[in-house]
Formats: sequence, structure tokens, C-alpha cells
Amino acid sequence: MSDARSSSATATTGTADPVRPYRGRFAPSPSGPLHFGSLIAAVGSYLEARTRGGDWLVRIEDLDPPRERPGAADAILATLDHLDLHWDGPILRQSTRVDAYQAALDRLAAAGQTFRCACSRAQLTALPENLHRDSGDELFHPRGCPLSPAAAGTSTACRFQAPDRDVEFVDRVQGRQCANVARTVGDFVLRRRDGWYAYQLAVVVDDAAQGVTDVVRGADLLGSTARQILLQEALGLPRLAYMHLPLAVDESGLKLSKSDDAPALSRERPAAQLVAVLEFLRQGPPAGLGDASPGEVLQWARANWRPEHFSGMTRGTASGASVQEATQEDRP
Ligand code: GLU
Repeated sequence: MSDARSSSATATTGTADPVRPYRGRFAPSPSGPLHFGSLIAAVGSYLEARTRGGDWLVRIEDLDPPRERPGAADAILATLDHLDLHWDGPILRQSTRVDAYQAALDRLAAAGQTFRCACSRAQLTALPENLHRDSGDELFHPRGCPLSPAAAGTSTACRFQAPDRDVEFVDRVQGRQCANVARTVGDFVLRRRDGWYAYQLAVVVDDAAQGVTDVVRGADLLGSTARQILLQEALGLPRLAYMHLPLAVDESGLKLSKSDDAPALSRERPAAQLVAVLEFLRQGPPAGLGDASPGEVLQWARANWRPEHFSGMTRGTASGASVQEATQEDRP
């Protein structure tokens, strides 16, 4: 969070433009099969879109080949289908969108908002600001690239010059948020040294191109939102509304994550998996609902969807019996 003393604030109400029809999305990265944590984002974004009479899109965020697993994207889509989570329109794959990302980068560069950076990971890791970062967090990068000025011919990343001011927004679950990106993350990456476009840029370009109005996703991405709002502003794109769902953690407090080899969802009893998500989100599904079909569970959930039941909840332990049942390995 930020120090607001010398900064001007950019406030948003957290409400999307009322004339644009609601459009939500689920945007999994194919780094592994769908697991319980990502199912929460899928079900939450689906229910929010459907109960608000909106579209629900699915976008495959396959922009990080070193972290992808062959077949994972198809497996995720098959699982959604198996759970009766049916999406609208065609699937967008980010790997097909590099021209759009480069065009956005060119616009930011033409406006003088980017710079080339040759800083190595080791140099950044050694900065005092980065001593206590979680491994998945973007490393802080100070203004002006003092560590390693880019020399001609070296491979460079492209970074965004983050303005030194507060970004405020109201998250529909987590409440009012305020962050000064220049002080918390610094000048962040738009295109990596290896040439791949960064998640922050791609997500902003694609949400706008797909007409998304509302982002519903896990609270692990709450900290990315200020960066995304800055890019929306710099590119003249509409402001989105945000809802960050509680993060599912294991008993030791670690996020359930595909890349951490969280167990895939069992293909048996798909309705029970949906019920486990509804329990995690404190929706109070009735006993026995897990014996219905996935479509019937979703019908109940649409009629009874109450986001206020998890208001302010940032995380929850995914260790209940219903979650165990939903994630047990399939029997051969
Ligand atoms: N691709 C991201 C993930 O799987 C989600 C991105 C988003 O919802 O903005 O964690």
C-alpha cells in the first residue's frame, strides 16, 4: 500500500460504465489442469456474469511457454464443459494476439512511457526492496534503470514508467484499495527480455478488445490491479470493475496453485466439486445438492448467489471434506 502524502489520487468507483452490458471472463493460464483454486475463479466469474444477465467469456492465457504444460488448455476446457460451465463466443488464446500487444507497446513507447532495461534478475533481487518478496511477485524496479543502463546490442526488457501517484479503486469484495505502483513495484515489465509479452499488458489489451466490463478473479491478483488500471489510463481504455474472490490456501497457508502441483479435480462427481466451491464461498448449499447434476447445482447457485456472504474475505482454507472429495485422484 502506498504513501499518499505527496501524491495525487486517481479514484474510481469500481463500477463499470452503466451503458456497457456486463461482460465477464475466466482467464486461466494453461500451466496445469484446473484445480480447486482456479475452479473458484471459474465458478465465481460465471455466477456473477449469469446473475447480472451478462456474457461469460473464456480466454486461455498461453503467453508463458516455459510454464505451460502440453494439453493443459484442452484439459481445462474439457473440465469446464464437464461441469456445465458453458461459455459464450469463441475462446481467445493469447498466443494469437502478439500483434495487438506490440501495437499497444508501440503506442506507449511513442508517448514516452516505456524504456529498455537490461537489469538482470540477480541485480534486482539484491535490492533491499526485494528482500521480502514472495517468489511469484514481480520484483521492484527503481526509476531510471540505475543498475544496468541498456547498451546497444544487449537483450532488453521493456518497462512502463509508472507514475508516482496513488491509484484507488473499490473492489466489490475486498473494498477500497489504494496503491502507488511507482513505490511498491516500480517501473514494471511490459515485454520480457526473452521477448514474451507480460501478463499485465496482455490482460489489459485483451479485456478491452473483448469488451470485458467486470473482472472476477482470485485475490492473489488484487495487487496487479493498480498496474492494470495505470495501463488502461495510459492506453485510453475503459476502466473495469473488479471483484477479487478469497484465495484458497492449504493448511500451511500456501496458495493452491497449478504450478505447485495441486491435485487436479477428479472427473468423478462434478456436482460435488461445484458444491465444494459454493461452500468455500459461504453460499450455504443445501445438504444433498452434490447428488444433483452439475446443471442443477449451477441453477441453484444462480438463484441463490450472494457475494456479500464472502465480503472482505481474502483467503480460506481449502481442507474441508467437500474439497477433499472434489480433488481426490481418479481411481484407475
Ligand atoms: N491467467 C491468470 C491466472 O490463471 C488470471 C488472469 C486474470 O484473471 O486476470 O492466474
